Amino acid sequence: MANVLEKVRKLKARRPQQGGGRMQGIFHQWKDSDNIVRLVGNFLEVKTHFIAPAPKRKERGLCRADAFQGTEKLPQVINCLDWDIEKEEATSTKTCPICKINAVAHAALKNNPNDEEKETFEKLRRDANARTNLKWNIIDRDDPHVVMVEDGGEKKVLGLKIATVGMEAWDDIEGIFEQMNFDITDPEDGIDIKVTKGFNGTRTTYSAQAVLDTSKKPPVAKVTPLTDEEKGLKEHDLKAICGKKVEAQKIIDALHEDLREFLEVEIEDAATESKTEAPAKEQPKRKSAPPPEEDDTSANAEEGNAIDEAIAEEDGDGLLDGTSEKKD
Ligand SMILES: [Zn+2]
Repeated sequence: MANVLEKVRKLKARRPQQGGGRMQGIFHQWKDSDNIVRLVGNFLEVKTHFIAPAPKRKERGLCRADAFQGTEKLPQVINCLDWDIEKEEATSTKTCPICKINAVAHAALKNNPNDEEKETFEKLRRDANARTNLKWNIIDRDDPHVVMVEDGGEKKVLGLKIATVGMEAWDDIEGIFEQMNFDITDPEDGIDIKVTKGFNGTRTTYSAQAVLDTSKKPPVAKVTPLTDEEKGLKEHDLKAICGKKVEAQKIIDALHEDLREFLEVEIEDAATESKTEAPAKEQPKRKSAPPPEEDDTSANAEEGNAIDEAIAEEDGDGLLDGTSEKKD
């Protein structure tokens, strides 16, 4: 009995909560147009793959549709297995089947493909490319509430949410850090930022600006010290919540059969390629520029995230139940 209680407590401790209840609505979704948020604490860098079909865009995806149904269903967006969530750097051993497919596509493109092959492999390379996102605790100024489920009842309480910041928005946010030359997440001296989600006719776009105090001439960045209540909010454990990994074999089993065959391909070109790429990966600063191949398919990841996280919240499981790689 003691063991069960211990386990129950451990599980409870891992779940995002505050004051004994369970929290819902913690995954922030960028809405169209402007979003005012305050970044809180440090961010977590993740690399993800969108692996599901996207019927709306008539994309069959990397994995079969049935892999995303039933009790054993896979998340639509998975963490790259070649990314160490704890260290926030590439792992030394490469086990990610999706990155392997990406490498095969790279190699094929260097091997004098004909036009048709070129098109196929360029698409595959984009589809299998790992995307960089930052997970960040935020105060959502437009709706700073999360839902607390307690004793069967629900109530809205002030709470931090987890935002996913893509590299496009990050370019701007990094610019704000540089321009301000101080930590814009500072509880006392920090500022709110406005993230604008737009559409350029082809794809969703993101930009970010500091929120300004326009009563001053000229306008200056508006400092928004956190209230005592805001300071007391517990930060979500980003690694535990966003760092869950799916076993390689489960991913392989879900792949379309023709893609699974690529995993058997020996690539000499890729070996040389990864050698030439190595210095870039060894750069110590993680806030470096995004990898050269941040392809413009963020819509995939975004769609996946939204769906995934909605499912996770609905189930009260999925991501939220995420076993982090670390032992606690
Ligand atoms: Zn990967």
